[in-house]
Amino acid sequence: MASPKERAAKAGGLAVALREALGKRGGLWFGWSGETRPNAPAEPKVVRSGKVMYALQDLDPEDQRAHYAGYANGTLWPLCHYRLGALSFRRTDWEGYRRVNAHFARALLPLLKPDDIVWVHDYHFILLAAELRKLGFEGRIGYFHHIPWPTPEVFLSLPSHAALVRDLAQYDLVGLQTENDVRALLTYLSTEARAWIAPGGVVGLNERRFRVAAYPIGIDADAFVKDAAASVGSEEEERLQSSLAGRVLAVGVDRLDYSKGLPNKFAAFGELLNHYPQHRSRVTMMQIAPLSRGEVAEYRALRRELEELGGAINGEYAEFDWVPLRYLNRPFPRATLAAIYRASKLGLVTPLRDGMNLVAKEYVAAQDPDDPGVLILSRFAGAADELTGALLVNPYDVEGMAETFDAGLTMSREERRERWGANMIKVQTNTIHNWCERFIADLSQIADHFAEAPEPGR
Ligand code: ADP
Repeated sequence: MASPKERAAKAGGLAVALREALGKRGGLWFGWSGETRPNAPAEPKVVRSGKVMYALQDLDPEDQRAHYAGYANGTLWPLCHYRLGALSFRRTDWEGYRRVNAHFARALLPLLKPDDIVWVHDYHFILLAAELRKLGFEGRIGYFHHIPWPTPEVFLSLPSHAALVRDLAQYDLVGLQTENDVRALLTYLSTEARAWIAPGGVVGLNERRFRVAAYPIGIDADAFVKDAAASVGSEEEERLQSSLAGRVLAVGVDRLDYSKGLPNKFAAFGELLNHYPQHRSRVTMMQIAPLSRGEVAEYRALRRELEELGGAINGEYAEFDWVPLRYLNRPFPRATLAAIYRASKLGLVTPLRDGMNLVAKEYVAAQDPDDPGVLILSRFAGAADELTGALLVNPYDVEGMAETFDAGLTMSREERRERWGANMIKVQTNTIHNWCERFIADLSQIADHFAEAPEPGR
């Protein structure tokens, strides 16, 4: 997930939903403070707010670099997004990652009660359960992996794959985004780790039993519906509409990340203007791409590449009264994003690989039910499993994407409504709140799953 700075800019639905879930039950929110200082001791700053206690832990700067820019975002992120060419592995980073997980476990343990349920989020903290177990914690621990889980062939490229999975087995429940991800992990577990797998995703590995299951994450759909509806007639919406001067808007909103397939999306838009000249001067594309992980070299290179590509498209096709591509590197408040989604006749969500992609769901939620836009969605986003009303594309096929953009721009209102309706049901039924509740309920009752799944052959 994002760094604390990115998270603050996003005011993400996940943070809101977790805070809400904690607020109901009371609980502890534990994480990195965003601060580094040499040899930071394992003593978090603790602040209480209502029923929730916040504990924030500082990190040693070198550990933080090895952990965050090194192993988490230089190794695990590209690995899980199938980008082996961008993968770098250094033992010192792996050791730094271990150290940070152990440091967090030491800081967290004194704050835990024996019957607490611990829910760990994302690939930065895969080892946390193992480190807590070493310190003697025996309570239930769940893990949710927000990004894809790669197929065994890809996962085996990770030099530390065996150690990572051995420690993953210390969780009671491992949640992944899609059934595809579950299949990938279970296949690795049975073929490489020689685990046994019982129905329902219960796994036996060495002396451990744990469960792997899919929990596709959702959004706060009502909030987007409300924000989008409220934007109609607002000053912001009027400014946007007058800037478009009657032209159709196509929007993309992605962190500036190589997994998001931005160069391919830009190229497909260029291809649309080239091969479907009827759209020239009629369609404006807006790509909002807040900067991300500037400390990792690949992200800096991507930024340069996009500036060049975007400049080339505008240089080639712009008219004195029309700029084809608007490219913005800044974050926006949720209400502004909702207004932009609603004003857009196309939502362009074309990652090369994505755990879920929440923007796809936000775009759907923000549409006018009477005259909705068309979602163009990569088949490699987890959201493609649920959003069957989208026009699916293969982002590696630039000409195919341009063809689909054209199909979206010329689609009848009747078909748009039908497709949007199918998507909206999914977005409204599987919200971030249901997702939270489901995971916590399953983790609380994990013993029942184990009881129902006897070891095969016994
Ligand atoms: P990832 O978690 O990889 O960034 P997602 O699409 O799943 O991708 O989630 C991105 C989240 O960040 C969405 O909730 C989206 O609204 C938000 N976001 C993306 N760009 C911006 C921006 N420029 N301003 C504010 N929020 C943004």
